[in-house]
Amino acid sequence: MLFGSNRTYIYLDNAATTPLCDAAAEAMAPYMKAAPDGAFGNANSLHSIGREAFSELEDARVRVARALGAQRPDEIVFTSGATEADNAAIIGMALAERDRRRLRGNAALGRVVMSRIEHHAVLHSAAMLKRLGFEVDFVDNDASGHIGVEALERVMREDTVLVSIMAVNNEVGTVLDTAALAKTAHRHGALFHVDAVQALGKIPFDVGALGVDAASFSSHKVGGPQGVGIMYLKTRTPFVAYMTGGGQERGMRSGTQNIAGILGCAAAVEHAVALQPAFAERATKLRDSLYQELCSLPKVSATVRLESGEFAPHIVNVCVSGMESQTMILQLDLRGFCVSGGSACSSNSLDPSHVLSALGVKRNLAQGSLRISFGEITDEADVASFVEAFKEVVS
Ligand code: PLP
Repeated sequence: MLFGSNRTYIYLDNAATTPLCDAAAEAMAPYMKAAPDGAFGNANSLHSIGREAFSELEDARVRVARALGAQRPDEIVFTSGATEADNAAIIGMALAERDRRRLRGNAALGRVVMSRIEHHAVLHSAAMLKRLGFEVDFVDNDASGHIGVEALERVMREDTVLVSIMAVNNEVGTVLDTAALAKTAHRHGALFHVDAVQALGKIPFDVGALGVDAASFSSHKVGGPQGVGIMYLKTRTPFVAYMTGGGQERGMRSGTQNIAGILGCAAAVEHAVALQPAFAERATKLRDSLYQELCSLPKVSATVRLESGEFAPHIVNVCVSGMESQTMILQLDLRGFCVSGGSACSSNSLDPSHVLSALGVKRNLAQGSLRISFGEITDEADVASFVEAFKEVVS
């Protein structure tokens, strides 16, 4: 339950964004006050106010590195969000690795491999790479979004410089086997990037143990502020920065750091990682009972087959035949529930999302898809009252 400006509502759209957690709000508070009480230093200034901000920034970096399993704090680069982290990692690693191979006399065109169920932040980075002369290929997934090592083996080639496959799909919650996929990419000499936005705080996720070269995270999906993200870049990974300027973040991402946001992000990341096992246990029960309730209704089916593999605890996705996502979202909103759909609404058409298309969900069914996603404050009562409202809307 949450309290809005003029009503209470039940927020079940935590895969889109989450409310700020207490730890993040407290960490940001000193930087959100007006002068003369507020903190405001530029972490790159030499005077004491700047040095104070610098020391808070570096402390946040150490804490984030520890929470994510990085070997060293300087493997953490703060960005404006996961979209920027995805773009920077994919474009920056692909360009650097292609250049490195060319210097060694290997003139083959660079090639990048990714899945079809990636977020647009990854897919559109690939589109940019194509314009830069790269070849982009896709690895096949099954009807629930899982990708086997054999499927990746089939598309790997000698000229593949980079593989990018997400850890948890943001629409249907599929959990991919990051460790095995990264190992496969490495066996073929390619670098491996993972978009881990929906994995953080939801499943155990340790960049060091998983053996990835780069990973992207978003603060606002784990109770931190919007507009802050993290790029993990393993030491000595080839990388060229596309955000150039004053050389902040050791030249990997220029621009004055958003200290308030970064402090909030660090507090939220630590909080989410510490709570992950308890959250996963609680949310899995909510997920399974919600799937059971919804799928017992006529016209409603689960978008993925839960028996087919591992799924994240916080995402439920169903398709309602004969209904449109937008209608259901607005009807549920009128009843005080926030959820989202799987269709992108353009001016005249209801296009099913690229993820549902890649899973092979039929167009008319995909148009009636609904995503319900849990957060730290979701409880059984929220889910029970959602089921009642959903029944009214689809009956
Ligand atoms: N990647 C995934 C899997 C996401 O779910 C999102 C957000 O929806 C993003 C990337 C983009 O994150 P941000 O909003 O921080 O740019």
